[in-house]
Amino acid sequence: MDGVERLKIERIEPFLVDRWLLIRVYTDADLVGTGEAGLWAHQKMVYEAIRELNRYFVGKDPRLIEHHWQAVSRNTHFMGSVLSAALSAIDIALWDLLGKSVNLPVYQLLGGKCRDKVRVFATVRGETVEQLAESAENQVKDGFTALRVTPFFRDAALQTPTKVVKTAVEMVQAIRDAIGYDVDLGVELHRRLTPAVAILLAKQLEPYRLLFYEDPVGPESVEALAYVAAHVNIPICAGERKYNIQQFQELLPYVSYIRPDVTLAGGITHCKKIAALAEASFVGVLPHLMGGPVNTPAQVQLDAAIPNYVLHEAGVLRPPYTEIVDEPITMERGYMLLPNRPGIGVEIQEDALEKYPYRPSEIREALHEDGSIAEK
Ligand SMILES: [Mg+2]
Repeated sequence: MDGVERLKIERIEPFLVDRWLLIRVYTDADLVGTGEAGLWAHQKMVYEAIRELNRYFVGKDPRLIEHHWQAVSRNTHFMGSVLSAALSAIDIALWDLLGKSVNLPVYQLLGGKCRDKVRVFATVRGETVEQLAESAENQVKDGFTALRVTPFFRDAALQTPTKVVKTAVEMVQAIRDAIGYDVDLGVELHRRLTPAVAILLAKQLEPYRLLFYEDPVGPESVEALAYVAAHVNIPICAGERKYNIQQFQELLPYVSYIRPDVTLAGGITHCKKIAALAEASFVGVLPHLMGGPVNTPAQVQLDAAIPNYVLHEAGVLRPPYTEIVDEPITMERGYMLLPNRPGIGVEIQEDALEKYPYRPSEIREALHEDGSIAEK
């Protein structure tokens, strides 16, 4: 690091707030980096992993971002989603520090922006088919050109597959009738279907010209996803539970869109590589967005800099999110605007941390009438 001013990490501090895990990386200069981890069901485990990683990071130069990613992830080859989420949070904070150290937004350091603003999709919500149609119409009036619906009502897990398929088709048809065919519409299956039901449903949905068919089956079996993809004529979108470049490479032959989450799949460093891997196969990136207060601006920095970005969630831009950071992302008619500040573009508001205590994720069973566990 000859010729570069000295900078050292003093400590890394994790914060659990509402349902999010945020971190701050303190240095011996007047610079603090901000990050977020996104293993939302197991945040406390990631919290401990981040505390433990202090033993490696304290005293190190925060600007050796790739070096640190390699050093930690290849140390024992004991990787997994907990360590990957911890490393993702630290990676985002190190990019934040790097941006602040040279007074530039992170997207400038990633090769510059490929777009001036980031197109996002709105989520269609409702308890009845009529409410869904109305919600979709309102989102389009608000300027969104892409929508997504989960075509299940609350008790779908307990219904017969035949009824699930029937209801899902009614929902998608009602939305298409309301918005027509100028707007993109995707469906999110939340990993709830068996391959057979996923194929049955997709056949029924094919006439509605869907942009994507997200996570029809669980993430554990690439073979099952490949089987579905071979029998379905809707572009498949998957990957939000994957956390390394090798796992994404395995998906690429079967999908049109991948969903890396910057707070889980290795931070900005690793997700930029995953996006490039997809680019080589003409696969689009539809990043997964947990919607946390640092997650969102960190993702937007990356969205700006990758040519094959497609869409992600609009998120929920209201409290507590908007109180936890000082300059939350802003929206303008279906687009997120790029932050212009150095680094990621937000600072944690420490007084908001006490106001919103941590809300752990509970394991809630959904049971069929016979007492067996249903997919949620
Ligand atoms: Mg999803």
